[in-house]
Amino acid sequence: MLIRGGRLVDPASRIASVRDLLISGESVKSVSKSARRTPGCQVIDASGCLVIPGLIDLHVHLREPGMPEAENVASGSRAAAAGGFTTVVCQPNTKPVLDNLETLDSLISSIAKTAKVRVLPAVALSKGLQGKQLSNIEDLAGRGARALSDDGIGTSRPRFASTIKAMPMTAPTSELSRTMAGNACHPNHAPSAASSLKSP
Ligand SMILES: [Zn+2]
Repeated sequence: MLIRGGRLVDPASRIASVRDLLISGESVKSVSKSARRTPGCQVIDASGCLVIPGLIDLHVHLREPGMPEAENVASGSRAAAAGGFTTVVCQPNTKPVLDNLETLDSLISSIAKTAKVRVLPAVALSKGLQGKQLSNIEDLAGRGARALSDDGIGTSRPRFASTIKAMPMTAPTSELSRTMAGNACHPNHAPSAASSLKSP
């Protein structure tokens, strides 16, 4: 496949200019100012378009389970793909809250069946997003959770903040790096504590 005439932006190779991209299978075969088309090669005219590495959105709401009229994994991941996002992290303020193995298993099954891009689940840091009791983080991490967040609620309550501070870092959460992250999703969302787990 030849992607021709797009503005290639690739920080890794420090390129930000119009280039032709020749792709063979799943690999980039060449990057050049003017690639020659070989017989049978599919050509995509990318004039006026950006050609970029897959984008990652760390904060999306796929509203699954519980709010299919708003969004679900299939529709949200299709929208992500259309916008150039190849990986998204979906937030846990769903109905029910994504704070237990049963709901997580169901979501992961739906992701496997319907996702159009890579979808990584963030699970609730506290049970029911109540800010009182930690979720069973170890089990959830072992079952496919890739981040923690009390999105939409926040973790600024002093008592819960000290609980988080004292959270034991044992396997499989030993590789979890804790960061306090601002919430860039919605103006009426409070800041949330997000902890990123190891990427799959
Ligand atoms: Zn949010």
